Amino acid sequence: MPYYHVAKAPQPGGDHEVHQQGCMYMPAPADCLPLGRHPTCHGALARARERYARAVGCYWCCLECHPGPEPDHALTTPGVPGHRD
Ligand SMILES: [Zn+2]
Repeated sequence: MPYYHVAKAPQPGGDHEVHQQGCMYMPAPADCLPLGRHPTCHGALARARERYARAVGCYWCCLECHPGPEPDHALTTPGVPGHRD
């Protein structure tokens, strides 16, 4: 079961991204709040929304919880997605 984190700093659009531990787009741990382990991103997102109303899943590691088809990031190189187990 992956461990999730939510970024303290919002994206330019105001959304706080939720990441699985180990995602290459996850900010430094000091810049995240831990959400604990969850079987899916949905549980992690619910937890993140207790803190940030505008929490969204990261495109790369929480695609199921990402609101749109495009990544918010300016990075264009598809990296290794986060771990799914
Ligand atoms: Zn991520």
